[in-house]
Amino acid sequence: MANEKTKALAEKLFYKKKDVFTTKSPAELADMMSFAEDYKAWLDVSKTEREAVAEMIRILTEAGFAEYKLGDSVKAGDKLYYNNRGKSLFAFNIGTEPIENGIRICASHIDSPRLDMKPVPLFENDGIGYLKTHYYGGIRKYQWTTIPLALHGVVTKADGTTVNVTIGEDVGDPVFCISDLLPHLAQDQNQKKLGEAFTGEGLNIMVCSSPYIDEDGAVTDEGVKLNVMAMLNEKYGIVESDFIAAELTAVPTGKAVDVGLDRWLIGGYGHDDRCCAYPSLRALLDNTDSVHTNIMVFADKEEIGSNGATGMRCSLLVDLIDTLSETLGSNGALVRSRSLCLSADVSAAYDPNYPEVYEKRNSAMLHCGVSLCKYTGSRGKAGTNDAPSEYASFVTGMLDKNSVNWQMVELGKIDQGGGGTVAMFIAESNIDTIDIGVPVISMHAPFEIISKADLYETYRAFSAFCK
Ligand code: MN
Ligand code: MN
Repeated sequence: MANEKTKALAEKLFYKKKDVFTTKSPAELADMMSFAEDYKAWLDVSKTEREAVAEMIRILTEAGFAEYKLGDSVKAGDKLYYNNRGKSLFAFNIGTEPIENGIRICASHIDSPRLDMKPVPLFENDGIGYLKTHYYGGIRKYQWTTIPLALHGVVTKADGTTVNVTIGEDVGDPVFCISDLLPHLAQDQNQKKLGEAFTGEGLNIMVCSSPYIDEDGAVTDEGVKLNVMAMLNEKYGIVESDFIAAELTAVPTGKAVDVGLDRWLIGGYGHDDRCCAYPSLRALLDNTDSVHTNIMVFADKEEIGSNGATGMRCSLLVDLIDTLSETLGSNGALVRSRSLCLSADVSAAYDPNYPEVYEKRNSAMLHCGVSLCKYTGSRGKAGTNDAPSEYASFVTGMLDKNSVNWQMVELGKIDQGGGGTVAMFIAESNIDTIDIGVPVISMHAPFEIISKADLYETYRAFSAFCK
């Protein structure tokens, strides 16, 4: 048996993940539980990037944040937000230290995998009305059949007005669904490969099963389709051509819930990446007296490559930093070179049900705290920001100083797949960046699972960074 001195030496020299149950006080564990309640409530009303932006603006406004336009004059202590097309958001405070010291940036995304409607989605087939979808982001198609779906989104009509659509979330609302074969008739389907058995063109959502009947009791051709349009027209004033410019999407219906008898897990739709967005919003709100200028980025389009004006490849973050720097009498390029970024995105939690795809020593374990990813990418780190050693060490040191439980992880086994985040796009603007976030079980599924402990330690990590 090792003597005390040898045990102490091992303790000093070895890296070990720290689970919260053996390292945190009962009071701290209770804080984790109550933070999760706030998060669930926010998640339930933030199922699309637009809904997340609207809810965050509501919270920010309540906390005294004001809308900022590029070029507005700013001063230390200002609390501001920049609303990018209602789909991405920059929330920030101007710190008391000179902006030449650099900005602290925390960048998460608020879009999640889902089923978008096609431009001409509505059709009728053998008496059933369907909406054709085009999946958004990396989904496993079979997971989206036989679950209740809600419709969310906006329709901008020919007269220029935009209506919000939400059907399937309120008590008493109807929901929608994609059917699947009964096992009794699935012999052929069962022989197919999983990735081929379910097709994108097959993800058609049932929306109606009865025709439009006029006052005389008469029914026309395409009566089911007409019935759908008549109901939508009555409620929202839209016609079929309004689908063309609409952003309508199907997401899993219902609220986030506790998972497990002990209630330490949260199941819900869209943890990726709203479980990083919410902690970063809270970190900003709780550190508005910071010496640093903190910018919280809530990006759109991460799940499909970060392209477009609301994705992280857009120049807007650079424009914002450069404009703020100029307004405060400094130089944007200099400020960026001294800025630091946490790319706040989820990682894959080790799943004991599928150990074969993980390399356990380098995997995120549930309840062991916020996960750091020095690099992501695939096939030999291709397509990644690999954070410099100095910056990775700065971040882990900061977390240790603040007693945040953290773990350095990879996504899974080499060459099992891979993925990326917004980290590389920010780093390309000459900003030190590292990936950090909450480990997720069943990532991108309609029902993803996270740990309340990891959620809270992620919040504490962001708060330590901002303060
Ligand atoms: Mn993500
Ligand atoms: Mn994702």
